[in-house]
Amino acid sequence: MNKTIVAEIISVGTELLLGEIIDTNAAFLAERMRDRGIFVYRKSTVGDNIHRLTVALKEALQRADLVIVGGGLGPTDDDMTREAIASVVGEEPYLDSKLLESLRGMFAARGRAMHESNNKQAWLIKSAVALPNPVGTAAGWFVSIDQKVIVALPGPPHELKKMWHEQVESRLPVSDQFIYHRTIHTAGIGESDLASRISQFTRLESPGIGTYARNSGVDIRVAAVAPTMAQARAVADPVLMEIAAILSPWIFGYDDETLVSAIMKKLLAARQTFACVESVTGGSLAAEITDCPGISSCFAGSLTAYANSVKIGAGVAEELIREHGAVSEPVALAMARVARKMFNADWGLSTTGVAGPDSLEGKVAGTAWIAVVGPNIEWSQLIDWPGSRQMIKNRICRSVFQSFFKLLKEEKCR
Ligand code: AMP
Ligand code: MG
Repeated sequence: MNKTIVAEIISVGTELLLGEIIDTNAAFLAERMRDRGIFVYRKSTVGDNIHRLTVALKEALQRADLVIVGGGLGPTDDDMTREAIASVVGEEPYLDSKLLESLRGMFAARGRAMHESNNKQAWLIKSAVALPNPVGTAAGWFVSIDQKVIVALPGPPHELKKMWHEQVESRLPVSDQFIYHRTIHTAGIGESDLASRISQFTRLESPGIGTYARNSGVDIRVAAVAPTMAQARAVADPVLMEIAAILSPWIFGYDDETLVSAIMKKLLAARQTFACVESVTGGSLAAEITDCPGISSCFAGSLTAYANSVKIGAGVAEELIREHGAVSEPVALAMARVARKMFNADWGLSTTGVAGPDSLEGKVAGTAWIAVVGPNIEWSQLIDWPGSRQMIKNRICRSVFQSFFKLLKEEKCR
């Protein structure tokens, strides 16, 4: 019988607590469970400590129907997820002969000697089913006890993901709820301004509306829960449409869309191409652009013209740099024109600025000029935001993409 399922995620590993590794597994698992209508109410991270892990598991089992543990299934002494689960369910681990055989086979196939310590990767308890790991030595566990389920998966993200899809999904209890959610992406409007424009919706019980500031701009999440997906959509979609109408000048996309994919869509419709000449961003524009699948349909390329000599060699007039400095509006515009010409593209984008920490040409860190030059327009803007080198470069990229998208949206392409 289907029921409402509450889940918790426990990520195991001292490296996570020391900040050496970002917990990407928990984000992956949370998304997968949302897609299955399972409510994740809590995520926690525990170091490699049997006592604290046992306590965390015990507490999670009191609150949740399903507990997913990621990590701690390695062969070494500090990997103690099996021990903790066995202790919580009160069962003694035993060496499973089948698992041991397959583990030995795996080592033999790779021409490696199997160390004694690997034996514990062939452990099992009575209530657990072993989940085969096709890409590593650590098998997972699927444990059913008293209407509750514990799933233990190895920490390496590619192993965890593969096993989730191949071994876990089909075994999970089925939820009687569906979670429908859409995310609206905006750029060029602040979070408080945005929130005040949609305040009549943000306090609704259902659909739930959440706003959050991200690198690309402010996102709005609209989500509804109902016994069928159609019912959940019927609650969320009308509100989504009203919000979209209010925020329309700032919206660049929905869900998986990015600023770059939104730019690509506009350019494809206009049958146009673009290219960059980058100085201060040092290739970051190109790196982000080329993350977008299908972008080769409209992106010609980018030149990193960091040194003045390269800018000049590419076609920026030497006098312009001498007269105005490399970080100036005329140079930014000249670079964007060069991008168009050099790459034979319809649009040229450029960045020139001071990433810091030192000043350059008497301009402080965070000063930059960006330009976009197209078939019928030459546009440029001064950016003046102090911060770390990374922040400055990041914000300059953001501004270029936002401004370019805005120009395309306003049909400045014709
Ligand atoms: P383990 O299964 O605990 O031996 O984990 C093996 C490796 O997987 C760790 O050293 C990390 O590199 C990686 N890992 C473990 N947990 C996580 C996590 N929550 N997110 C991302 N990587 C992880
Ligand atoms: Mg570990």
